[in-house]
Amino acid sequence: MQVDSAPVKSDLVLIGGGHSHLFVLKYLAMNPISGTRLTLITRDLHTPYSGMLPGFIAGHYHYDDAHIDLRPLAAYARARLIRAEVNAIDAGRKLIMMNDRPPIAYDLLSINIGSTPVMPELENADVNQFAVKPIDCFLTHWKKLEQRILASSTPIKLSIIGAGAGGVELALSLQYRIKQALAPSMKVDQQLKVSLVTDDDQILSTFNTRLRRRFVRILKSRNIDLYCNSRVRRFNKGLIVIENGDPIQSDAVIWVTSASAPDWLSTTGLKLDNSGFIAVNDRLQSCSHPQVFATGDIASVEQYPRPKSGVFAVRQGIPLAKNLARSLQNRPLKPFRPQKQYLSLISTGELYAVASRGPWSAEGAWLWQVKNWIDRRFIRQFSDLPEMQDHFIQTEDNQGLEIPAMRCGGCGSKIGSKILSRVLSRLAEESDQVVLTGLDTPDDAAIIDIPVKKQLVQSVDYFRSFLNDPFLFGKIATNHALSDLYAMGVEPHSAMAIASIPFAHESKQEEELFHLMSGVVECLQENHTLLIGGHSSEASEMAVGLSVNGFASPGQILLKSGLQPGDCLILTSPLGSGVLFAADMRGKAKARWIEEAMGHMLLSNRDAMLCLQKHGATACTDVSGFGLAGHLFEMIQASAVAVEIDLVRLPLMAGAPETVGRGILSSLQPQNMRIEHAIEDREKLAGLAQYALLFDPQTAGGLLASVPADQAEACVDELRSRGYRLAENIARVIDSFDQAKNIRLTKQFH
Ligand SMILES: Cc1cc2nc3c(=O)[nH]c(=O)nc-3n(C[C@H](O)[C@H](O)[C@H](O)COP(=O)(O)OP(=O)(O)OC[C@H]3O[C@@H](n4cnc5c(N)ncnc54)[C@H](O)[C@@H]3O)c2cc1C
Repeated sequence: MQVDSAPVKSDLVLIGGGHSHLFVLKYLAMNPISGTRLTLITRDLHTPYSGMLPGFIAGHYHYDDAHIDLRPLAAYARARLIRAEVNAIDAGRKLIMMNDRPPIAYDLLSINIGSTPVMPELENADVNQFAVKPIDCFLTHWKKLEQRILASSTPIKLSIIGAGAGGVELALSLQYRIKQALAPSMKVDQQLKVSLVTDDDQILSTFNTRLRRRFVRILKSRNIDLYCNSRVRRFNKGLIVIENGDPIQSDAVIWVTSASAPDWLSTTGLKLDNSGFIAVNDRLQSCSHPQVFATGDIASVEQYPRPKSGVFAVRQGIPLAKNLARSLQNRPLKPFRPQKQYLSLISTGELYAVASRGPWSAEGAWLWQVKNWIDRRFIRQFSDLPEMQDHFIQTEDNQGLEIPAMRCGGCGSKIGSKILSRVLSRLAEESDQVVLTGLDTPDDAAIIDIPVKKQLVQSVDYFRSFLNDPFLFGKIATNHALSDLYAMGVEPHSAMAIASIPFAHESKQEEELFHLMSGVVECLQENHTLLIGGHSSEASEMAVGLSVNGFASPGQILLKSGLQPGDCLILTSPLGSGVLFAADMRGKAKARWIEEAMGHMLLSNRDAMLCLQKHGATACTDVSGFGLAGHLFEMIQASAVAVEIDLVRLPLMAGAPETVGRGILSSLQPQNMRIEHAIEDREKLAGLAQYALLFDPQTAGGLLASVPADQAEACVDELRSRGYRLAENIARVIDSFDQAKNIRLTKQFH
């Protein structure tokens, strides 16, 4: 991948991985703008393609058929991907706020966060109700409801509130799904009774009469009841309360009502329309803040009011991308006028669809085929990605900036003292006072009092950034560094950090350093560890290193040399981070794999150490750069024993075997495999993915420890209950059988 050599000058931040932003990411991947850092902040890592949602719910598509994985797309666009839910924007200070991480600053912002259905008072409301959006929450609720419907001895009454295209399609798709799950001899009405409730006097009010008539007929033929002119007040104790009407009995309710915007938008300072959506002009630019753009359901184009529909979010994609690029290049923006008439294809659950455009309408199985072809083509645009572009469009303002080669090295590469002191004071404001001891004094080095009769235990680690999210990178790197102490059974006391930040404008460097150090400090805090000093410098890429200190009583320390024949070897976390991040760099890893891997990498080894000590651990190490086999080999050599590993029991990260199967391995793999000679009869099992993963280098990996055999089961159970859910007893220690080969692989042992 070509890296932009110009210093970062502008931050373009996209909030939401909605339909328009898919186009923006792809456009900017193919037309990257030099000096611009692109960031995508999104609550969900997979964007459901609205056109395929009903087909997905009906069971015609798998999850990956109907969703766009934002991780490879963001990687393709060289965008930082931040998974977080935005809960406030300060448009005056150009800051974006989220839970659990520091605010992110922008120069140019684009918002494409969709909408959620309007829901009435929820106080005292029935728990058997949920909204169609966010889709991931809907799918979780629906799975449970589906099981309840299939297991019920009487028909479950399900009411869908809202009879626009979404409500009608959902009613038909859910019913079809249940029908397919039943034995052919059973009728769907025996399990499920669906009703559609709307406050309108008709269904599908934004479509033409012909299409409406067709759906009235289809709903009737499918035994779906219609309640028009019924404004729902609430759903409570199995009753849907209707304004000025009789209540409707129902066991469950799904809300597919008209779109609403989140309340927090009202505090942003952005101009909103009467319904709370962001008011934009025909350039898709906020009517109050020219540095903010908005599209899709969340935006309301003042000149061209349109219904909330994915079609418009899609159509706005390229015009938005081009206007964002023009804005970054200080070029005039161009207006976008959405069309009035467009082709709608609404499915009926089975492989059948009804079409409309203007006054025209038609229906048939062939229209489903057309829809399927269009929809699959849409998904392919964002999943089969072409080669990356390696030229960057220069902006006028980039001229005159210092280029990296001309910047000072040595002490001169230190980050400006003003930047550093600003970052430190921001960190101090946001963290508990205890953490930053030593950083508030002007002395040249930190002083640590070593408690009497204690030994100082120290370790150091250094990382080049493997994640483009500086906050998470800081957290994971710190977790990794602390693991060296935990592996020795020692609680950390304090740490020093060294941070390298890429060349950029001063304000950008400050933000980058602040995010990185916030991650470091947060992780240290979680591990009750003080940050007592550090150093920061400029470099061509981000990096962070930590030296960590702990105190131990002589004899308390766990060494690698304590393995004893008869012991069991327990691994606390799964293997695979090396191959998964190698795949991620190539844009070949699924977002859910990386998300899960990061969950393991963020888990501190502190509790694991306490648990292993409680169960009488005799030796321990942390699994890191040399891979499991490399670190185990060090233990075997130090203890003069042999080990029999059950390959089938090796815990693996989701996606790791698939990644190995595709031939993607870490660049350190060949080096780590040099100790293969220590493995007996390796040819027998060398074809298994588990075999390759023995050599996979791990970042922030788990602990590998020996415990007496009679403690192994209880220890694994306790580790799992403490959050190390894939902890496993993977091997047993045996007498040395061959000086040269002391690792034996099996596929099972007892
Ligand atoms: C059952 C059903 C069927 C439909 N069928 C069709 C159809 O066939 N054709 C059609 O045109 N329309 C259809 N629609 C409407 C369509 O789903 C929406 O109009 C469309 O999804 C809006 O797209 P968007 O790009 O604005 O946002 P979305 O596609 O909803 O994307 C929003 C994105 O923002 C993220 N996000 C949300 N809030 C935050 C936050 N606070 N912080 C960070 N990220 C956030 C989400 O994770 C998501 O990535 C259907 C709707 C339903 C319910």
